[in-house]
Amino acid sequence: MLDLHVHSTCSADGGSAILDYARRAAATGLRVIGFCEHVDFDPRDRAYEYLDAGRYDLEIAATREEVPGVRLCQGVEITYQAGLEARIRGWLAARRWDYVVASVHLVDYADGWAMISEPRAVEDYYAGHTRRQAYVPYFEELLRAVRSGLGDVLGHLDLIKRYGVTHYGAFRPAEFEAEIRAVLRAMVEAGMGLEINTSGWRQAPGEPYPGLEVVRWYRELGGEVLTVGSDAHRVEDLGAGVPRALDLARAAGFRAVAAFEAGRPFWIDLE
Ligand SMILES: [Zn+2]
Ligand SMILES: [Zn+2]
Repeated sequence: MLDLHVHSTCSADGGSAILDYARRAAATGLRVIGFCEHVDFDPRDRAYEYLDAGRYDLEIAATREEVPGVRLCQGVEITYQAGLEARIRGWLAARRWDYVVASVHLVDYADGWAMISEPRAVEDYYAGHTRRQAYVPYFEELLRAVRSGLGDVLGHLDLIKRYGVTHYGAFRPAEFEAEIRAVLRAMVEAGMGLEINTSGWRQAPGEPYPGLEVVRWYRELGGEVLTVGSDAHRVEDLGAGVPRALDLARAAGFRAVAAFEAGRPFWIDLE
């Protein structure tokens, strides 16, 4: 049906071209693809200065012509960092994307920093901290990301559990309910969308980012904008877990999911 979190070779870590994703979508009945290519603002990050917006525009335009039956949303996934807010804001002001996913991939702490999406980098961080000491700074940075207003959608809300479950055991949202609800309330106030990122089903947590409980909290708090994405980095993962995520959305009380054009949501009904 749709997949709103896809990385092509326009991202530093993407393995398949935009055109290949669109052909795959046409063959499998996927109607909407949202590309959100990585944009990082910190030289420590591997996507730093990687995105070539001109090339991205050309590939999107060529693919729209070649595969007209699949609707393409052209977005970016920014790595939010509180210390770089002015630079991020300046970069985003230069043009309008169909949508911006704001994600936290990196946590700064007293004695260093950790790339939480890379297993070796995050292990030192976990080793020196209790579960609360490790997770709370992540959720605090997430809250700053939402309050910055620098995104239409918040990416993979509880990504901190990706390698955390291996180190600390199962992730229980109730343990961080105050922190997570503060993030969700700020999202509802800002009209920011929540994403169900299905890559967690393919990874150690065995559940999406976030799971049903947190999606329910968002709904209870008045959240209306929900997207679904696979976080595919290669064409084989396009649409992976999406039907299951749509069931989860229904179970949480949603009747439609969102995709975006020029910063505005359009809706796809969940029959
Ligand atoms: Zn991400
Ligand atoms: Zn991503």
